[in-house]
Amino acid sequence: ICYNILKKRGSDLMRFSIVDRGDENSKRVADTLKKKCFSIGWQYDDEHCEIIFSVGGDGTLLRAIHTYIDKLDEIQFVAIHTGNLGFFTDYTQDEVDHLVYDLKHNKPVVEEFNLLQMDLPQVNETLYALNEVRIESLAKTLVLDISIDDEFFESSQGSGICVSTQSGSTAVNRALKGAVVDPGLKVLQLCEIMPISHKNHHSLKNPYIMNDNRKISVRGDTLAYAHVCYDHLERDLKSISEIIIHSSTKKVRFARYRTYSYLTRLKNLY
Ligand code: NAP
Repeated sequence: ICYNILKKRGSDLMRFSIVDRGDENSKRVADTLKKKCFSIGWQYDDEHCEIIFSVGGDGTLLRAIHTYIDKLDEIQFVAIHTGNLGFFTDYTQDEVDHLVYDLKHNKPVVEEFNLLQMDLPQVNETLYALNEVRIESLAKTLVLDISIDDEFFESSQGSGICVSTQSGSTAVNRALKGAVVDPGLKVLQLCEIMPISHKNHHSLKNPYIMNDNRKISVRGDTLAYAHVCYDHLERDLKSISEIIIHSSTKKVRFARYRTYSYLTRLKNLY
């Protein structure tokens, strides 16, 4: 009953939690935000929260999402940057009062992003990412046979591959010379990482932007030497020879209380 009442009253009474970057400044901002949320009647509740505030940077938001990965259906995120405005962060640390005003007086627009899903069928394991998954080995050349929708596409030889989401297109994908993708476009982007290039081996080498209903299968014995990096996390691939990457039905939700200018955020990057 309590849960329904809280829901009905919307922004008046919410259960919240805070994930901060861990540095002194972010902790101080998180503490201020917590007190101000108490002052508008919100309740701090780590276990049954409806709103998570992330205080730090885009990286902090990724950590918050993975901390609550099993509860994403119940949660919306609001992120505060303690540096320049990032891609997931809507307020800077100087705008905490503005944020609390918005929490009290405004209804948010909820923006959803499908996570990227990576299945490891041999060990029955599933991993998720908001930005990207990378299959990488810097020491050993990987030979990765890539199929798309069960049709063989290419054998990629090099340090690995990166599959990024639209929201991850400005992260490692961009450092790999992948394209920045406008919000709202439902695509995945496949980039090779340091592909081998000589007359006996050919692969696309350019970034491939594809519909997000595609399924990318990666197979090969050298996978066992690789690591998979998913957002800030990683796992070794010993005994793995097959990986399937696709857009997940699992979503992360952002509560947007103010206008979202993607161009402003993009211009902050360079
Ligand atoms: P991290 O310190 O959490 O983040 C590394 C940098 O990437 C930070 O400047 C972070 O911004 C920024 N970032 C994260 N997501 C972004 C996005 N969607 N668009 C633009 N910038 C973004 O590093 P980590 O723990 O190693 O890895 C977490 C994520 O960082 C990964 O998903 C990866 O994409 C990204 N990363 C990028 C590079 C690169 O561009 N060469 C290198 C390493 C990692 P904040 O300062 O706002 O947190």
